[in-house]
Amino acid sequence: MKDTSLTVLLSLLCATASSVSGCNSSSPALTEKVADGIYRIRASRSNVYLLAGDSLVLIDTGMKGDGKAILQAIESIGRKPREVSYILITHAHIDHTGSLAFLKQATGAKVVASAQETEYVAGRKKTWTMEREGFGGKIFKLMLYFMETFFFKYEPATVDLPCKDGDVLECFGTIYILDTPGHSPGSVSYNLPEKGIIFVGDALSGVPEPKLPPRAGCADYQQALQSVKKIAGLIFEKCCFGHGNPLKTRADASIRQLI
Ligand SMILES: [Zn+2]
Repeated sequence: MKDTSLTVLLSLLCATASSVSGCNSSSPALTEKVADGIYRIRASRSNVYLLAGDSLVLIDTGMKGDGKAILQAIESIGRKPREVSYILITHAHIDHTGSLAFLKQATGAKVVASAQETEYVAGRKKTWTMEREGFGGKIFKLMLYFMETFFFKYEPATVDLPCKDGDVLECFGTIYILDTPGHSPGSVSYNLPEKGIIFVGDALSGVPEPKLPPRAGCADYQQALQSVKKIAGLIFEKCCFGHGNPLKTRADASIRQLI
């Protein structure tokens, strides 16, 4: 198994251990301003983003146990959890949907996710059943099976607005939904051209620096590369990843260089 696969695997194992013990539930999450009204909340194992306009929008929800820290982060900028109108999910992996049920209940927000992944978000399908590339991916899949079956008790959440490529959401300006599959079958990115920023989930990796997604973490690596090309064809100043630091200047040019 390559280093990247091992890193992803160990990260998820640690994340699961944290979730089972609940030790992240009361730790405040570090909140960083990415742009006007846009914040990165560093949850235990992944990034959550907060868009603060007339109402609030969350992008992804971290692991199970991150929910309270995310609510604290909302309050730390002087806003209230009930102001969250939408929770946008980039993909159904457990480090992005773990606190979704908790946050949906706490905020009353509507959940937006790819129509292709609503069954996973709703808990009717397990994410370990998603394909994974290569030998490393198969080991990864086996570990996820054990984690999801015996340790990680995913709390199902209903998707209120199943989305597809080209759909538009009018909140915090206009948000364009872009299918960027490959890392998972229904991964989506959220593009805000008026703000010059895109949220790509795990369609690209930001760890330790922006790079192509690790093959073992992908359901379909060739499809993932096509999605990177699709993202690289857009114009944006900033790019926010599911893991790692956002690219804050000339992000589109940096991503074009990756391919
Ligand atoms: Zn993922």
